[in-house]
Amino acid sequence: MSDLAYKRTNVYEKADEKLLKEIFDYAEGYKTFLDEGKTEREVCSYVVEAAKAQGYVPFEFGMQLKAGDKVYYNNRGKNVYLIRIGTEDVAKAGIRILASHIDSPRIDLKQVPLYESDGIAFGKTHYYGGIRKYQWATIPLALHGAVALADGSVLNVKVGDDANDPVFYISDLLPHLAAKQNAKPLGEGIGGEDLNIWFGNNPYTAAADDKDKTVKENLLRILNEKYGMKESDFLSAELSLVPAYNAKDVGFDRALIGSYGHDDRVCSYPAYTALFDAENDKNTVMVVLADKEEIGSEGTTGMQCAIFTDLIDEIARSFGVSSAAVRSKSKCLSADVNAGYDPNYPEVLEKLNATYISHGAGVTKFTGARGKSGSSDADAEYVAYLRKIFDENGVIWQTGELGKVDVGGGGTVAKYIANMNIDTIDIGVPVISMHAPYEVVSKADVYETYLAFKAFIK
Ligand code: MN
Ligand code: MN
Repeated sequence: MSDLAYKRTNVYEKADEKLLKEIFDYAEGYKTFLDEGKTEREVCSYVVEAAKAQGYVPFEFGMQLKAGDKVYYNNRGKNVYLIRIGTEDVAKAGIRILASHIDSPRIDLKQVPLYESDGIAFGKTHYYGGIRKYQWATIPLALHGAVALADGSVLNVKVGDDANDPVFYISDLLPHLAAKQNAKPLGEGIGGEDLNIWFGNNPYTAAADDKDKTVKENLLRILNEKYGMKESDFLSAELSLVPAYNAKDVGFDRALIGSYGHDDRVCSYPAYTALFDAENDKNTVMVVLADKEEIGSEGTTGMQCAIFTDLIDEIARSFGVSSAAVRSKSKCLSADVNAGYDPNYPEVLEKLNATYISHGAGVTKFTGARGKSGSSDADAEYVAYLRKIFDENGVIWQTGELGKVDVGGGGTVAKYIANMNIDTIDIGVPVISMHAPYEVVSKADVYETYLAFKAFIK
């Protein structure tokens, strides 16, 4: 093919020994990150600890920031901002923003979850984010989250990941008796109110009174002994069921990683490690690890919260410049995953405009659905600006849309940032089986995304 034609690059095909080693070494740190943080609260704590080790200090409103300062803002333990003040004039150079999210689709316990039915204790749930419900039955689940007690203390719960922990379970029918269920459309096979968690089966035999010898009573006794909890404490809890298994290499050649919640920890890890490994200190950089993306980026910890612009205001105030001027010069990479092309399901992606696994960081100019609706659609000039940076820094990248026209679609945090007058485009790692309990990405793409972020902030 001539130089005139555009062609994607396969990272593994192009990689020399050195790059291959870097790709595989980087994946080890990423897998640890995946296993240590399965919820936004856990990722937030993990990243805050990592930031402290890098010399980041807590940001306080009113603080006077200066070049070289490294601060973090821990927003309610579920959303974190890392800010490094650069040497360039922030009114002229703006801020380089990397925004990803740290919440993933999962199954949340309801506020009054416990009940007993025919000798089994269950937990009622309300799923979080876009899941295909049938995928969550008959897999081992772990319970993660926090219980806020009336005395102001917060209990952190994490059961199911250690080798000696019990796990939790959602049942499904046996094939012998599933003829009627099999005839339903796939999306209706298991309903939202069918996602009931198996919590226990042993009645409280030590109870003095026969009427207290129930499985639910025994469950309450165990929760009380282990956590000091009463049933009413679920009212002020955020407890989630997440897959109990950890990240593993996939395939004989170990080119891929399987894990729960690559979306969007696979962009969060490259974002904050790119900041920590930055090659120079010229640009002011903000890394946003947002919560609530999977349910619309709403609320105090989502990307739509005013804390985002409040922090930019604080940076601007420190230098006596206009926040609007800083935003107008700022640039953002909305770091989120895209659907990787899957040869098993070629009908949903358009081959010329899909992201392919192991072909580098995937740039998505627009998202949305039904004629790009709901997308911020980045300017061609901004794409050109990034092309130059990526190509000059040897970053392997590609471009792709989320599916064929009118097949479906989706959105990211990009539009909320772009609406603040900040050039923003989506970029991230192509994922296979996005939102499934076990998703797959390419190690090569994780690393190229990290290189793209490093090039962007330097
Ligand atoms: Mn995402
Ligand atoms: Mn998602």
